[in-house]
Amino acid sequence: MADLWFSEYHVINSVKLGLNIKEILHTEETPFQKLEMYRNDTFGVFMTLDGFIQVTEKDEFVYHDMICHPALAVNPSIKKVLIIGGGDGGTAREVARYPHIETIDMVEIDGAVVEACKKYMPSTAGVFSKEPRLNLIIGDGLKFVEEAADGSYDLILVDSTDPAGPGEGLFTVQFYENCYRALKEDGILINQHECAFHPLDAEQMQKAHSKIKKVFPIAKVYGFNIPTYSTGYWYFGFASKKYDPITDLKAEEWEKFGLRTKYYNTDIHTGAFALPNYVKEVLEKA
Ligand code: SAM
Repeated sequence: MADLWFSEYHVINSVKLGLNIKEILHTEETPFQKLEMYRNDTFGVFMTLDGFIQVTEKDEFVYHDMICHPALAVNPSIKKVLIIGGGDGGTAREVARYPHIETIDMVEIDGAVVEACKKYMPSTAGVFSKEPRLNLIIGDGLKFVEEAADGSYDLILVDSTDPAGPGEGLFTVQFYENCYRALKEDGILINQHECAFHPLDAEQMQKAHSKIKKVFPIAKVYGFNIPTYSTGYWYFGFASKKYDPITDLKAEEWEKFGLRTKYYNTDIHTGAFALPNYVKEVLEKA
């Protein structure tokens, strides 16, 4: 196996990224996507969908800290959470660390992702068997949000794939409008914002941001450094009906939760919203 490599192709950018494969754990064509799980000596078990790395045991903490904790530090009273996607369980695991959260609905389109992660990545998917507040629904997040009652969630976390395949609809104005409606008056939406380094990626970020801005009065973008995502730097959008992520940060209240996190802290929170100029330029044109 020493010479077997997983390669992630970004042909349009003339880039190929790779991880050595120590062990092939699972390969499956699900009704939605090609699901593969491998083991690498450095990154541990990793999952790919349609040829793109989604999660690795070694650096998942960055993504899952950053999708979840910033919103809870802005509104520490969040009680009802909806996760769209997130089949590896990492986002639900982080949300479940707050004892005061009452319900966590999670809508993942592909049950095969959940099953494979339960088997091979218990560090994230362990949450599915031990969290009574977690209500896992196998279905399309797009449709779920369309049918959700008005004002039913404090927080929606979109832990989706890129804007292609089953994740495509999660990057549309219609979806963001439905999220807006399904959120309470002080609701927060966190969603994938891709990266901005290569022109095509920048275009995707710009499109996502321009659509969100049409729907939410407050729409900001924040970044984090994650080794196994293309370019090593990735972004989430923070959209809200009421809260500014910097001026409404409640650092002391969040620190009182006493959570030990490996990436997130309230200094990182502020720093993450400070964007490089090339990213600012992309967003200013949105
Ligand atoms: N951290 C990852 C990344 O950005 O590389 C994403 C995590 S992966 C668990 C995203 C999940 O979103 C996948 O399991 C996929 O099946 C799910 N997904 C994609 N489109 C969806 C949709 N329309 N509704 C619900 N889940 C969806």
